[in-house]
Amino acid sequence: MKVNLHTPLAACALASVLAWPISAWPQNPPAQTAPPAPPAAAGQKPRPQDTEQWEPVPVVVTPGPITSAPPPSDAIVLFDGTNLNEWVNTRDKAPAGWTVADGMFTVNKRDKVGNIETKRSFGSYQLHLEYRIPADIGGEGQSRGNSGLFLASTGGGDGGYELQILDSFNNKTYVNGQGGSVYKQFPPLVNAGRKPGEWQTYDIAWTAPTFNDDGSMKTPARLTAFHNGVLIQSNVELKGETLYIGQPTYRKHGPSPIKLQSHGDPSIPISFKNIWIREVK
Ligand code: MG
Repeated sequence: MKVNLHTPLAACALASVLAWPISAWPQNPPAQTAPPAPPAAAGQKPRPQDTEQWEPVPVVVTPGPITSAPPPSDAIVLFDGTNLNEWVNTRDKAPAGWTVADGMFTVNKRDKVGNIETKRSFGSYQLHLEYRIPADIGGEGQSRGNSGLFLASTGGGDGGYELQILDSFNNKTYVNGQGGSVYKQFPPLVNAGRKPGEWQTYDIAWTAPTFNDDGSMKTPARLTAFHNGVLIQSNVELKGETLYIGQPTYRKHGPSPIKLQSHGDPSIPISFKNIWIREVK
C-alpha cells in the first residue's frame, strides 16, 4: 500500500498500523454485554437495553492539536467542500438532500431527508472523514449530536455496520454506544472526543467481510480506527451488522455504499467536511 507522506495524520496513523505485527497491536477487550437492567424474562421480546454495556468506561485521552489530512494522490474524494455529487439519499437514491455551505455539509433534519450514502460501492478501504458537533448542542445520552458512519450500507435505514458518531465530551451513555464505538459491539479503547464546536477526525482501515455461496459468513469484517489521531478500535472482528435491538448477525453482501446517519433525535444537526477514501485491493 502506498503512503503519501504529505498527509501527516493519515501517514502517521497508517504507518503505525502497517509497522506493527497484528499480534502486537493493542487489543480491544472481547465484546460483552452488561445490561444495567435485569435480563429479559424467558420468552420476552428482545429489548434495546439487553445489548447495552455501561462498564468499564473508556478513559478520557485529550487528543493533540486539531489537524486535517488532505487526500493522497490515489484517493477518491467524496467531499471537497463544494458539492454532494458523490452522494445520494439512501431512501430514494435522489441527489443527496443535506445542506452544503461554507465548505462543509450538514445533516438535513428539518426536511426529514434521512440518511445519505455514496453513489459508489466499496470493498476494503482506508477512509478519512471530519465532523463537527455544534458548540451549542443540546440533549443528552444518545440524543446529543448522534450521527454515524456506516462502513458498509447493506440496505435502507440503518442497515449495515455503524461506527458511532456522538458527542462523548462529558456525555454519559452506554459505552458500546458512545462516540467511537462499533455500535453495540465494541466500545472505543479510549474516549478521544473533542468538545462540541471543534472539528474531529476519523481515520479508518476497513476490511470487508466475505461470504460463502450459501450466504454464510466466510471471513468477518475487521476495523481499525483512529479518532483525532488516537487509536480507538484495533483490528476488531465485527460480529455482524450493528443492531439497535438483538444480537448482530451477518447477511451476505458485496461491495457496498458508505452511509452517514441522520439520527431521529431532536438535537441540532452536525456537519462534515474533507472526506476521502483509498480502495485497498
Ligand atoms: Mg448513530
